[in-house]
This record gives sequence, C-alpha cells and structure tokens, in this order.
Amino acid sequence: MSFDINRRDIEFLLREFLDLNALTKLPKYSHVSTDDIASVLDAAEEIASSVIAPLNIPSDRIGARYDSATRTVTTSPGYKQAHARFAADAWGAANEPEEFGGMGLPQAINIALEEIFTGKCSAFSMAMGLTKAGANAIITLGSDEQKKRYVANMLSGKWTGTMCLTEPHAGTDVGDARAKAVPIEGREGIYKITGTKRFISFGEHDMTENIIHLVLARTPNSPAGTKGISLFIIPKYKLDASGSTTVHSNDVSCGGIEHKMGIHGSPTCTMNFGDAGECEGELLGKEHAGMDNMFLIMNEARLLVGLQAHAIGADSLRHAVAYAKERIQCADNRARGDRNAPKVQIVKHHDVRRMLTTMKAHVESIRALLFTTAYYLDMSKAAEDPADRKRYHGWVELLTPVCKAYASDIAHEVTLLGTQVAGGAGYCSDMPLEQNVRDVKICSIYEGTNGIQALDLVFRKLQMKGGRVFLGFIGEMRAKLYELEQYPELWPLARKVKSTMRSAGLALAMLMGKPILKKNYAGITTVLERFGVDFSGRREGDVALTNAVPLLEVFGIVLSAILLLREAATATDKLRSLSEKGDAEEIKFYRGKIATARFFVCHILPRANARIETIRSGDVSSMEDMF
Ligand SMILES: Cc1cc2nc3c(=O)[nH]c(=O)nc-3n(C[C@H](O)[C@H](O)[C@H](O)COP(=O)(O)OP(=O)(O)OC[C@H]3O[C@@H](n4cnc5c(N)ncnc54)[C@H](O)[C@@H]3O)c2cc1C
Repeated sequence: MSFDINRRDIEFLLREFLDLNALTKLPKYSHVSTDDIASVLDAAEEIASSVIAPLNIPSDRIGARYDSATRTVTTSPGYKQAHARFAADAWGAANEPEEFGGMGLPQAINIALEEIFTGKCSAFSMAMGLTKAGANAIITLGSDEQKKRYVANMLSGKWTGTMCLTEPHAGTDVGDARAKAVPIEGREGIYKITGTKRFISFGEHDMTENIIHLVLARTPNSPAGTKGISLFIIPKYKLDASGSTTVHSNDVSCGGIEHKMGIHGSPTCTMNFGDAGECEGELLGKEHAGMDNMFLIMNEARLLVGLQAHAIGADSLRHAVAYAKERIQCADNRARGDRNAPKVQIVKHHDVRRMLTTMKAHVESIRALLFTTAYYLDMSKAAEDPADRKRYHGWVELLTPVCKAYASDIAHEVTLLGTQVAGGAGYCSDMPLEQNVRDVKICSIYEGTNGIQALDLVFRKLQMKGGRVFLGFIGEMRAKLYELEQYPELWPLARKVKSTMRSAGLALAMLMGKPILKKNYAGITTVLERFGVDFSGRREGDVALTNAVPLLEVFGIVLSAILLLREAATATDKLRSLSEKGDAEEIKFYRGKIATARFFVCHILPRANARIETIRSGDVSSMEDMF
C-alpha cells in the first residue's frame, strides 16, 4: 500500500492511540471488532475515491442551480447518483442504531469514515450530515409514531433533512425568530406554519423524493426570546397514513439560493413556509423547548463542522506534500553561490519544510482532538458506570466549542499554507488548494460563529457544575502530561506545556473576574490572589468578552500540544519494539510523530503564551469610542 499521510495517521489513532478495545468490550459496542477497522476504512476509501471524489470539481465550477420559474434546485452534476449509491450502502448511518438501519459503529470509528468522505467533496457530504443530525433529534425527542415515520427513511438517505433556524433578521440572535406555528383545532400536535428561513443548507434539491425540515417557530402567546420557541417537523411533501410520501405539496417552497465564496455544491436556500396558508408541521418535543431541543442537533452539527474543516485541511496537506515532492526549483539554499549545485525538490527547502510541518502538526493535532472527543462521546453513551457516563458527557460539552471553533480557524490557516506551498499553482484552480481555502471558510461562520463558540466556552462550559467539569478535565490532562516523565526526550517538552498551562490558569482567573470565580470556583480565588492575580479595577465582563476568542485559542493550542506529546510517547514505544532494520516507512512515520510534537511545542505553543500575555494585560481599548 502506498504511504498516504492521512490514512496512516487515521489508522494510528484508531489502532494504536485510542483505547478502542476498552470501548468494544462494553455491551453497547460488543458487536464491533477492532480487527475489522482496516477493511472498513478500505471500503470507505473505495467509495470515496470512485463515487465522491469525481464530484468535487464540477461541484465547485457548476454547483447547485436554481430555477425561479419552478422554484426548484438542480444539484451539481453527479450528486443525485452519488447520493443514491452512498445511501444504498448505508454509509450515512454507519454509527446509527441497527434498529433504524444503521451499522451501530462507535462514533470514534465513524468519524474516520466521515473524514475520508468529507475530504473528497465537503459540499456533498453536508446533505447526509445534516440528515443524520435531524434523525438523531427525532430519535431522542420524537414519539414512537414520529420515529417510525421519519427516522429509517432519513437514515437510509431516502429523504434528507435540514435544520432551519436562521431568518433574514435573526442570525446569531436566533431567539428573535418570527416564524409562526398556530395549533390546528382537533388535530393534536399539528400546527399551521408560516415564515421565512434564510441560508438553509440543502433546503431544496432534486436528490430525494422528500425533504424533512426541522424548523424553529413561535406558538401563539409564547414568551419573547429563546424561551418562546418550539421545534417542528415539516416535510416538503405531505405523508399519507402509512408514512409514505404523497404528491401533495406541504406549501414549502424555495425562494432562491445564495451565490457564495465556496461549497457551491451545497444549495444555501431561502425557504418559505406557508405562503398559501397550507403548510403543516408536527411539534417535536415539548412546546417552548425548541431552543434546547435544537441544541441536540447543533451540538452534533458543531462537531461535524469541526470535522468538515479538518477534512478539508487534511486534503490540503495531502496535495501540498505531493506537490512539494514533485516540484523542482533552485538549488539547496545552503549551497548558495555554487553554480553546479543540483536543483532540488522544493520539499528540501527550509521554508517549505516549515510550512508543511506546521500544516502536519495542525492537521494531526486536530484529528487527535476530534477523534478523542468522538471517543468520549461513545463513552458517554456506553460506559457501564453512570458516573463515568456523566463525566464523559461533561467533557464532550466542554470540548464541543473548541472542536468547532479552534478546528475551523486552524483548518483555514492550513489551507492558506497549502496554497503558499504550491506557489502560483496553488493560487490557480488546476489544483484543489484554492478551492479548499474558499470551501473551508464557512466553517468558522455557520453553526454559531466562532466568536459565539468562544462565549459559550467562557460563560457556559467553563462554569458547568461550578467549574468542576473543567477542573476535572484539566486534572486528567495534567495527569497525562506527568506520565511523560518516563520519556527523557519528551519530558522537557511536557514541562514547557505545563508552564503554559499554569500561566493560562492565571489568565483565565483574571479574565473571569472575581465575582464569577467566587460564584463558581469557590475557594480558589484566595489561592489565585496569593499567586499575584490582581482583580482590582476591572470593568466587569469587558475583559472576558474581549478575550473569549484568544482564550479558546489557548485552550485549543494547549490541548493540541498534550495530544501530540501523548502520540509521540506511543510512537516512542513503537520505535523501541521496531528494529532499525524494520519497515522503513513505519520507522519514518513514528519518528515523524516525535518530530511533529517537538515542532508544535517549539513553534506553535508560544502562540498560546502570546495570547496569555494579551489576556493578562486586561486591556479593553477596543471598546473605546472610535468607530
Ligand atoms: C453557506 C451557509 C450555510 C448555512 N446553513 C444554515 C442552515 O442549514 N441552517 C440555518 O439555520 N442557518 C444556516 N446558516 C446561517 C448561519 O448559521 C449564520 O450565518 C450564522 O449563525 C451567523 O448569523 P448571521 O449571518 O446573521 O450573522 P450575524 O448574526 O449578523 O453576525 C455578524 C457578526 O457579528 C457577530 N456577533 C453577532 N452577535 C454577537 C454577540 N452577541 N456577541 C459577539 N459577536 C456577535 C458574529 O459573530 C459575526 O461575526 C448558513 C449560512 C451560510 C453562509
């Protein structure tokens, strides 16, 4: 098998880094054998290369098209056939319960499949990703009748699903939604829906016979804001008593699609509900619990967006490495002045190495972060002890904004570096590198912008259960760092990370301010004051609101450093058991892991220290009157 930089790393995580054996010993996953991982990945790569990859260029150049006369959307060439094939093989439901037609795989394995599929054409993969998130919300909240009617048909790909939150005037401010839902007399749980939703991914398309919209709307006399919002299931075509799609429109129409920077294959639709007063929706979950219920979809979708960004970044790494090994330009810079020095591949130049190693370090650390979070998600459902399930659930909640925001910001940086590595060729559309820059940018915007993710981290997640979830997680990470004491090559690097963690703790304390600390971290305020943290004279809230994004970045960088060092420890163990005469590619892989961790700690970790200095300055001059 040829050495694929991403595939080898995926296998490393699944087979050598994460303790999948512990997972598959649990009753929920006892039907899964870790011996099958390679063959599942092979099968996924086969369909990804033969069915999904050919979609990517037409998806960008032609994309989805809207016909205003019929108010219909034609998907990019090949999408319809590819969706049918992808769905028929049940790939869209790989980690879903077997009773609904899924394969019942853990998310820790499924995330690898999603990376493989999404990396080949991210716009195409969105349809099934959103559908799964919607089906899962129905599994969790729906009545038996609703589950029977919708879930299997969505997970099989017979119908797709959407998530309809945004309205023209209400983006981040979702609680301002105006779409209305009025109960229909004599029909329990059924409402007349009216309203317009904007920016709805795959709101309209020609791939399936029906589309199931999950829509936020307001019932009569409901309280203002998020507390007054409810969630509804609205099919594009009405269903008959047996649950089959009929030819009767449910008065849902597409008013147009956006012309946008990237993901051209994903139609971003304006959706009108009830223009003719005939749109009917079923309440999903309790009335007024719509926002909390929508979070069930959004949390899953946020992890998916982190994964989407990562998969695009990983694709850029693959192309950049391949190009750098082929392209010959200039002699080695160290032989400057020697006219006879041979020209070399650009991969030999120091600056190209710096860029490629930065990309590799980011891609591999984000992959480790996402796969580890997926593992925690599995444990939160499968662990036998309820206390363990709670602990893992808390960690997933804590890490979700980091997986979404840090991964998408970093993936954007990775795609930009990929373009730079390939020079002029990277800027032109013959290579997918420039498309990747455009496609990945949306990931920092949708599913709640990255600024909003940072506020979620600082004001909600860090304060869950009086800070105990966060402190418990940090305790676990510190313990993992201390285990590196037995690795002489890694311990000095681990100490640098520990030192950054200590400064980050002080910065965090300052950022939150004394009242929040007193409320949620009772007892540690005095200790922090003894460390010299000065709480006096702060404009309450300003420092935290200004520095939430830098803090999230610090969290992401520190976690990445820890994960890469842990990987390097695993690689060190493997190298000890491989003789020097062993498989040269394998030795190169493990040595590369150690070098990547060292590079990250020396070249990227210092960014966290710079951010910490910013936070500790307490400066809020951006709030002066100047715009
Ligand atoms: C291609 C695409 C696909 C999409 N798909 C879907 C979909 O399927 N379903 C759906 O419902 N929506 C979808 N969206 C909408 C998307 O989720 C929103 O665009 C996003 O939530 C931001 O809302 P907005 O565009 O109105 O920006 P605004 O809310 O106007 O925000 C503009 C800027 O102000 C900042 N800001 C706003 N409020 C605050 C605050 N309180 N504190 C700090 N900063 C703030 C934001 O972070 C942002 O930087 C999609 C959007 C796009 C472009």
